[in-house]
Amino acid sequence: TATVNGEGASVNNIPTVKFTQLFINGHFVDSVLGKRFETIDPRTGEVIARISEGTKEDIDIAVKAARQAFDLGPWPRLSGSERGKILMKWADLIDQHTEELAALDAIDAGKLYHMCKAVEVPGATKSLRYYAGAADKIHGEVLKMSREFHAYTLLEPIGVVGHIIPWNFPTTMFFIKVSPSLAAGCTMVLKPAEQTPLSALYYAHLAKLAGIPDGVLNVVPGFGAIAGAAISSHMDIDKVSFTGSTKTGREIMQAAAKSNLKQVSLELGGKSPLIIFDDADVDKAAELALLGILFNKGEVCVASSRVFVQEGIYDEFEKKLVEKAKAWVVGDPFDPKVQQGPQEDMLIAQDEIFGPVMALKKFKTIEEAIKSANNTKYGLAAGIVTKNLDIANTVSRSIRAGTIWINCYLAFEDDAPFGGYKMSGFGKDHGLDALYKYLQVKSVITPI
Ligand code: NAD
Repeated sequence: TATVNGEGASVNNIPTVKFTQLFINGHFVDSVLGKRFETIDPRTGEVIARISEGTKEDIDIAVKAARQAFDLGPWPRLSGSERGKILMKWADLIDQHTEELAALDAIDAGKLYHMCKAVEVPGATKSLRYYAGAADKIHGEVLKMSREFHAYTLLEPIGVVGHIIPWNFPTTMFFIKVSPSLAAGCTMVLKPAEQTPLSALYYAHLAKLAGIPDGVLNVVPGFGAIAGAAISSHMDIDKVSFTGSTKTGREIMQAAAKSNLKQVSLELGGKSPLIIFDDADVDKAAELALLGILFNKGEVCVASSRVFVQEGIYDEFEKKLVEKAKAWVVGDPFDPKVQQGPQEDMLIAQDEIFGPVMALKKFKTIEEAIKSANNTKYGLAAGIVTKNLDIANTVSRSIRAGTIWINCYLAFEDDAPFGGYKMSGFGKDHGLDALYKYLQVKSVITPI
């Protein structure tokens, strides 16, 4: 059983908060300035642990380690299958510690323990295995020969990557970034969110046991304006991959432009529409809408925060939605009957509420639904509920968003690229697109 005591989480009486220092060059170390910050259990407001706080100086040291590992170390030089083998071993080790890792995210982020155990931690190992399998399939192409030259392309790892991730899915966000960039042969510095540093440090410990060489994966907890900004403005980081708010994404892009023009990929906020047509099964549609807005306390970038319902079923839908919402169980995230844990402080990023608040609107025609759905500066995802294939196809093509769910919501697959249109950002996570995001193309041309 998983419980929480004064020291943090424990599973079967084994304490899980084991790592509270920065992980740099394969070792747990204190921050240079010796600073620490508190990470809090949102259920109780109690301090779980005091974590070493990474500052600019620590980011510098971590980047040097990552640079050395990239320029001189084995990781980028291993064959893809050798890298894949180590990623597989890491996944196996994570499998052996699923309960502890799930407990860490549950106490640090107020997430449902059973959801972390059944979905999020297993999702991490699925992601690792997906990219482990892809690592030996990275190849360039032979180009058309002219009379004088022969040419081919090489796909090379982009170099040292800085990853900056948010607090709502500490495990998923860690692996969404780390799995493809490691498979590509990059080295990296990852800054977890200041609210949720615990599982990232544990994953780093297991990475070392799996055989990931020192300096390849560095984890530096700290605050956005200090450690995060030190990553985005660093002169020796080749790419920054960020998930978080649109406001921070803009700051990161500015810092990248003002420093070394490092590449940037941004997974930002959303205001995702769910469009429900008259022919939908109203009961199922209400369930989808509720899942879309209440899953993970509404602290989901793709939350279905705008629901458009066609006029014929609007009243019935509204009634069902309210009934189902009233039956939603809120409480202790360690209780398996509970569907929603404690709400963290609500962070309002521009007009994205990032909480369980849904706007419901009636529509008449398909054109009106499309226009309303597109009436946002965001374009992360959208949902459509209908039995009519023509409508589903037309709406899918007309909505400017990176993911469209038809008769489902929040369905993620490792091989389905995920990322935004418009102000929801650019650059994909998931799928081979995410692997290519961490590779660059070199053309090699030689006379025949
Ligand atoms: P946030 O942007 O404040 O923080 C995210 C990360 O950025 C944290 O690690 C933080 O420390 C860091 N950060 C903050 N300021 C920084 C700066 N100036 N320079 C560098 N790094 C900085 O976001 P948040 O409010 O904690 O997270 C919620 C947001 O994340 C929501 O807008 C949500 O939609 C978005 N999100 C997007 C996705 C996606 O895949 N698109 C997934 C989850 C969350």
